[in-house]
Amino acid sequence: MAGKWALVLHGGAGPIFGQDYAAQEKHLAGLLKEGGQRLASGDAALDVVEAMVAAMEDSGLYLAGRGAAPNLNGDYELDAAIMDGRTRNAGAVGALQGVLSPIAAARMVMERTPNVLIVGEGARRLADAAGLATVDDPEVYYKPIDERTRQVGAPEMGTVGAVALDQYGDMSAATSTAGIMNKTPGRLGDTPVIGAGTWADERCAISCTGLGEYFIRANAAADVSARIRYGGARLEPAVQGALDDVKRLGGEGGMIAVSASGEMSALFNSGGMKRGLTDSSGRFEVATFL
Ligand code: ASP
Repeated sequence: MAGKWALVLHGGAGPIFGQDYAAQEKHLAGLLKEGGQRLASGDAALDVVEAMVAAMEDSGLYLAGRGAAPNLNGDYELDAAIMDGRTRNAGAVGALQGVLSPIAAARMVMERTPNVLIVGEGARRLADAAGLATVDDPEVYYKPIDERTRQVGAPEMGTVGAVALDQYGDMSAATSTAGIMNKTPGRLGDTPVIGAGTWADERCAISCTGLGEYFIRANAAADVSARIRYGGARLEPAVQGALDDVKRLGGEGGMIAVSASGEMSALFNSGGMKRGLTDSSGRFEVATFL
């Protein structure tokens, strides 16, 4: 195997200036190594992005999975999506309660149902029927990562995401989140909305983070592909253009992206974005702020 591969991860676009994200950066670096090795040895982008996001969910280091924050009622409602650029198959869950790995539930929707997006109780029942691991006691399992920001009421966000290009030229994207802090019960952001927060096709794979309402209104993730498809844009200007559109509407956040030719991008218009990039040329970067 000697084909090009690329992997980009994000751990959310809502870091607080002055706070220490060394643990998250160390974790992202470890995942980049693991994911890079898998892609180098021929694993499919789809499997790698799912594994990367599942590990971030499980780590409790981000506001997703174990690190999720509750909604206004004190319930933990999580959203996730996965998309296979080769087939454009996609699966997503929204407002899902009690399932350990929302990204595993999203993949289950993609592979075991004729549907793309299933929410709430219906998603939970399907996950149970598929034998996915559950959270027995949410109060014990979830450890919202940043109690401090919760107290001061900052609009903390903390989605996690992964995009990859594999050696076969295929791209995939995966995103998982608890949404925004103190969200209204039943609120869905951009993460599970295919085209808004998560997208993959034969041109690029995208995962977004930021105030989801704006990313939905900008159809941000799919807009990157449209800029490449209709405008002939390279990846980075396409991502910048889509993010500028989010900004014009008043939104803040970031995006990670890979293209079919192996370009990588991780841009944000917020104060920072926990991120990591690596590829077959030896590039390896982890950062949170500029
Ligand atoms: N985009 C997510 C949402 O609005 C939040 C985030 O990225 O942190 O649900």
